[in-house]
Amino acid sequence: MLKVEGINVYYGHIQALKEVSLEIKQGEIVTLIGANGAGKSTLLKTISGLLKPKKGTVVFEGKNINGKAAQTIVKQGISHVPEGRRIFANMSVEENLELGAYLRKDKKGVKDDFDMVFDLFPRLQERIKQQAGTLSGGEQQMLAMGRALMARPRLLLLDEPSMGLAPLLVKTIFRIIEEINKGGTTILLVEQNAHMALSVANMAYVLETGRVVISGHPDELHSSEQVKMAYLGGH
Ligand code: ATP
Repeated sequence: MLKVEGINVYYGHIQALKEVSLEIKQGEIVTLIGANGAGKSTLLKTISGLLKPKKGTVVFEGKNINGKAAQTIVKQGISHVPEGRRIFANMSVEENLELGAYLRKDKKGVKDDFDMVFDLFPRLQERIKQQAGTLSGGEQQMLAMGRALMARPRLLLLDEPSMGLAPLLVKTIFRIIEEINKGGTTILLVEQNAHMALSVANMAYVLETGRVVISGHPDELHSSEQVKMAYLGGH
């Protein structure tokens, strides 16, 4: 479904991604783990068109999407939930969700997707008229995910959805990620919570200072000494 091949991405003179390649098959949850500053967010931003690779290709469903505008990439079926949520704090929950669907013309489909989002996140329905900035951290994460789903993506990019959330909420968010995936959406998940990420993923990549250093089935990574020491607290 998505093939990233040999991309180099720079911020000015700083090279953030070095020859990164990655593949996602339809229906999978693929996770990307790595320390702060490894380049995980940079990779998501490159796939969603917020950054342009200097070298390499990004191919989605057979089409090269390198250098395309972010809006075009959303239309093609990729939605990005950025780190830190970035919801519109002064707008209501409902308005935030409507914005997620602003590129769509199928009114009936949008209405159905409101129902789908409320099925996944009943809390959002309860707070539909509330100003988004007054939601709790967990609810804001739900809203950011709900907003991305309103674009009806086939590939959803999630950047650290569990960040800053209490353990019980982390579990809820992961359960919902699996539910979204079961509904047919392919997911690329960036996480610092490697234990949880590996437990839901079909395939995992480890990034270190801009390079993919390990990739494989989560079971293989779970039993790798290198991964255990660096990302699983030695367990
Ligand atoms: P984190 O979990 O902290 O977000 P990450 O793995 O997502 O880490 P990136 O945010 O992709 O890492 O950053 C990769 C590298 O690029 C880091 O060295 C970072 O300092 C650098 N970087 C990120 N954003 C910028 C920017 N806007 N300008 C300059 N350098 C940047």
